[in-house]
Amino acid sequence: TIVLDREYFINVFRDMLPFVDEQAEHLQQLDSEIGDGDHGINLTIGFREVTKQLDTINEEAADISTVFKKIGMILLGKVGGSSGPLYGSFFMKAGKDVTGKDEVTFDEFCGMLINGIEAIQLRGKAEIGDKTMIDAFLPGVDVLKQDKPEDPIEKFTAFVEAMKEGAESTIPLVAKKGRAMRLGERAVGHKDPGAESAWMMMEVFLKRLKE
Ligand code: ADP
Ligand code: MG
Ligand code: MG
Repeated sequence: TIVLDREYFINVFRDMLPFVDEQAEHLQQLDSEIGDGDHGINLTIGFREVTKQLDTINEEAADISTVFKKIGMILLGKVGGSSGPLYGSFFMKAGKDVTGKDEVTFDEFCGMLINGIEAIQLRGKAEIGDKTMIDAFLPGVDVLKQDKPEDPIEKFTAFVEAMKEGAESTIPLVAKKGRAMRLGERAVGHKDPGAESAWMMMEVFLKRLKE
């Protein structure tokens, strides 16, 4: 297995703003089709603030757990949309089992992601098939919980791939949670913006993992 240090996570969080800037228009487009067209902007606002505070967080945080909690709190506080509290809970709870650690094993990292995803479900109460980010995350959790592949890069690649397919699977669905719910059948044929940003965000972790 491999060990991921604080520097890895700080680098990932530093990559998030350029990533959302690059994808903002695409996410805006998806959200304008079945929502209120602000998903890209919401993420930009959140991660702009994360970027602003990242050096201070890195200096002051005692451990990886605190880094994640601080970032979650920024998203929770700064992003108005439903994605802010959901992604905020994700990062806050991802840090809950790694108190005191300045590095984590790959398996511990997988556990962090699973905890974060559970927090999203606890908060948003969405199930698979409701046309939300959960449709991307839960197929990813299945991969994280499997023993194979053993190689971390292979496993994380499979995780992101499963999430990407999960996002695609939202296209034919009617929404049972979130704004798109009001559209009924008219949401059919459109991909859920949160499911799309979810897998893309996890790909930022993958890219740094490969370095
Ligand atoms: P808002 O809908 O408030 O404008 P965003 O546009 O930033 O917020 O985020 C919309 C995304 O949030 C949706 O595409 C969906 O994936 C996700 N979402 C909304 N409600 C829920 C929920 N209850 N559980 C999980 N995800 C949700
Ligand atoms: Mg929106
Ligand atoms: Mg909104």
